[in-house]
Amino acid sequence: MKSLSLRKIVRLSINSALSIPFLYVLSTEGISTTSMLLSEPVRTRSHLESVLNEEIKKLGITNKRISAGFGKTSYGFAEVKKLSDGSYEIVSENGKNRSAIRHELYHIVRGYLDYNEVSNPYSSFFKYHFVEEPQAVIYQAFGIKL
Ligand SMILES: [Zn+2]
Repeated sequence: MKSLSLRKIVRLSINSALSIPFLYVLSTEGISTTSMLLSEPVRTRSHLESVLNEEIKKLGITNKRISAGFGKTSYGFAEVKKLSDGSYEIVSENGKNRSAIRHELYHIVRGYLDYNEVSNPYSSFFKYHFVEEPQAVIYQAFGIKL
């Protein structure tokens, strides 16, 4: 039996450590995508309005002005923007389901869009990928508010 050399052990350890962020992102995306596939589809504008209002009530954010529509997104299945008038707009492209609406609403709840835009890009990258996005995915899939 051939034993592992120290060099091989070190190389294996480095490779394993490097794959952790990729596995992490894949699992977050996997939970989000599975949740959307199993979720109630939203096909019409009026259905979108009623789903939006139901989910706003569940989160208790009736004090904010939020609209939703179907359209092109720059990244992902759906996205949320804060407009210059202080209201929020959810745009859904391929995320035409209740789960995607829940996800975007949770970003509003946690104040993701209200951060100062001149903050450090590195800290906002890590905050987005390791705090904001997992929180939104866990709420979208399981209804747990972290
Ligand atoms: Zn998100």
